[in-house]
Amino acid sequence: MEKPTNPRKFETEAIRTQLPRSEQGEHAAPLYLTSSFVFEDAEQMRARFADEDPGNIYSRFSNPNTTELIEKVCRLEGTEAGWATATGMAAVFTAIAALCDSGSHILACRSVFGSTHQLLTKVLPRWQIGHTYVDIAAPRAAWEAALQPQSRVVLVETPSNPGVDLIDLQMLGDFARDHDLILMVDNCFATPYLQQPARFGAHLVLHSATKFMDGQGRVLGGLIMGSTELIAQVQAFARHSGPAMSPFNAWVLSKSLETLAVRMDRHSTNALTLAEWLEGHPAVTWVKYPFLPSHPRYALAKKQMRLGGGVFSFELKGGLEAGRRFLDALQMCSLTANLGDSRTIVTHPASTTHARLQESERAAVGITPGLVRVSVGLEHVDDIRADLAQALKA
Ligand SMILES: *Cc1c(COP(=O)(O)O)cnc(C)c1O
Repeated sequence: MEKPTNPRKFETEAIRTQLPRSEQGEHAAPLYLTSSFVFEDAEQMRARFADEDPGNIYSRFSNPNTTELIEKVCRLEGTEAGWATATGMAAVFTAIAALCDSGSHILACRSVFGSTHQLLTKVLPRWQIGHTYVDIAAPRAAWEAALQPQSRVVLVETPSNPGVDLIDLQMLGDFARDHDLILMVDNCFATPYLQQPARFGAHLVLHSATKFMDGQGRVLGGLIMGSTELIAQVQAFARHSGPAMSPFNAWVLSKSLETLAVRMDRHSTNALTLAEWLEGHPAVTWVKYPFLPSHPRYALAKKQMRLGGGVFSFELKGGLEAGRRFLDALQMCSLTANLGDSRTIVTHPASTTHARLQESERAAVGITPGLVRVSVGLEHVDDIRADLAQALKA
């Protein structure tokens, strides 16, 4: 794809980054549902396999639809290159597997996504890849103290799930640079519209495209974005281990990104309106949202995020039982294991996603008994508020 001559704004890149038109003159990008690609002759086939000719070979390696998506996200995240995977977890696993050796050590923020925690604690130790957790609120000294000679990767998410805590990306970028570590940031909650970790020194930006990038709860997908050099290593691993994104999902996701900016604006204003309202509600102890002045990292949120995003959490008075009753009383909001949808989704981590953890383990990642996570959708804010209000009364 040709690079535009003038730097264009985020919204324009999200819409106008597109495959060259075919001879059919289509306006929207066509879907290339094909497993493999045809070579003109034996010489072209040789050159493609030798990496001398950049064309497509097989959709496990590349496909025009994934190429368009990757090119678009490069422009949105400000990275040189990328790789698309079937799911967000495939992106996390592929990034680590491509860049760590047996014996490598990972420094990770304690409040990582549940399946990332399972990878770190159950899967990677089988290849002697160890990890040390550092609390999200800890200063740089705690990261320094956790450093080991074999440390290779720093892995964090901000804002975190479900606690909506933040970590200072500039601090981690400096730390990673000073110790020659690879900083990987899961940017799923913010999306590149709200936060661009590469600007603060992140080497790889990871995504579950399943969430706000699709934004409509339809397809799974993941992305690994970074420098040409690191993505070449990711590619060397992924070509042969096979976590590739399907062309159909890439086609859906590239279309979804055309509306990312307007969706994230509305998700964020709806979320802020609801968070401000809930903060004064008598059934609620506290509300956590990055752009509420009461958030412990409010100043940091303002520095590294454009807006607060679509997710907030709050603590119900009455703990675990109150949480379950509240979910049962909701009439419109969905109870489902996803987030980042046009529909508002409410979850109660202590009785569901994190029910198997000990209470002390939950507390260490900020999950209190009455914690409710709301992924605010694009319905009219008055209707979302009315549903939450009647459920709080119940
Ligand atoms: C959902 C999620 C993932 C995993 O993504 P999948 O597409 O479900 O595999 C990883 N990180 C975060 C922060 C997520 O919310």
